Amino acid sequence: MIQQSTPGDWQERYHSALLGVFGSPQLCLDHGYGCIVVDSDGNEYLDLLGGIAVNALGYAHPAWVKAVTHQAETLAHVSNFFTTRPQLDLAEKMLSLAKAPEGSAVFFSNSGTEANEAAIKICLARKNGRIIALDHAFHGRTLGALALTHKAAYRQPFGPSAIDVTFVAPDDHGTLCHELDKGDVSAVFVEPVQGEAGVVPLSREYLRQVRELTVCHDALMVVDEVQCGMGRTGRWFAHQGAHITPDVMTTAKALGGGFPIGATVTFGPHVSGVLTAGQHGTTFGGNALACAVACAVISTIESDDLLAHVRKIGALMSTALQQCHPSITQVRGSGALLGIQFDSDIAGDLVVAARDAGFIVNAANPSTLRLAPPYVLTEAQAQSFVDALPGLIDSVRS
Ligand SMILES: *Cc1c(COP(=O)(O)O)cnc(C)c1O
Repeated sequence: MIQQSTPGDWQERYHSALLGVFGSPQLCLDHGYGCIVVDSDGNEYLDLLGGIAVNALGYAHPAWVKAVTHQAETLAHVSNFFTTRPQLDLAEKMLSLAKAPEGSAVFFSNSGTEANEAAIKICLARKNGRIIALDHAFHGRTLGALALTHKAAYRQPFGPSAIDVTFVAPDDHGTLCHELDKGDVSAVFVEPVQGEAGVVPLSREYLRQVRELTVCHDALMVVDEVQCGMGRTGRWFAHQGAHITPDVMTTAKALGGGFPIGATVTFGPHVSGVLTAGQHGTTFGGNALACAVACAVISTIESDDLLAHVRKIGALMSTALQQCHPSITQVRGSGALLGIQFDSDIAGDLVVAARDAGFIVNAANPSTLRLAPPYVLTEAQAQSFVDALPGLIDSVRS
């Protein structure tokens, strides 16, 4: 039975019941509407993080609630011995949004890291060689995806990986050429916008170079759009800005707008045909409930023209933020994925100050704030943060 929480006792209950991998939760949240979330003491916050780039439609969006409710009342889970209409609808829709050619396919899972595990298995099954990933890359926490994650502190406690990974500097054509020339590379994994690294977009030129070089060297190009995909940058997928077709794409976070789902898209028969029946699987992945909700998220983004809105609020915020305080040295990213770079390590203190002032933001690293708000953020809400930020910066610097 769930105990009724009294104000303030949640911290103690958390630490006596939950594994300590996330540190201390900042708040105990109770409910939300739109971009506003309310804690268990009744305080309201403007959420500019959206559950880490997940809640594309904000909280309790009517279309999302309706999709969950309707599908739950109909049929939620059936196992992958069977298919369902929502699964077929979502797969076809994903292929069309991804502009995937004939012979492309989708594999559904429950998270970003699982979407990447499927991608890794496809690459290694086709050609068992090294995988190249980028410095500062983040691909997830399960052992395969973790091997491609750059930060040593995340990886090293768990010993050497069975996957042979080489990290190279992003946007460095020479090093990539040099590694691919050795001939043993299975795949190159890139995040078109490196999210956890502090919102660092790769140049379009580099994305095109990765595409050309992997083709020349019989390696696959995998784009990890777990964070930057599903409309977050103002286009359905960030790599589309470079006008390239990857071999594999992974996505998750915003796909279900808060309902867990991940997807791995294989572009064309040369990758879609690699794994055969029995070579990969999942119990929960692609269930009717998750797929119906993802369909509703995509339909709402389309019907409410949210990609155009995301581009508009992104441009508005990035222009205003660049000019709002001298300690801001750069604003990176676009749409609903922005990194605010400061000239010193104040991001951690700013998260606390912002929260006390009613804004939820995140420190992607000690000198960068990350904003990944719901796509339904209004211009007035965006402006309220821009207006408050200079005062917050001054308060943490004094
Ligand atoms: C969040 C993230 C992942 C991992 O997704 P999970 O759902 O947490 O497993 C993988 N790649 C990128 C780029 C991410 O931002």
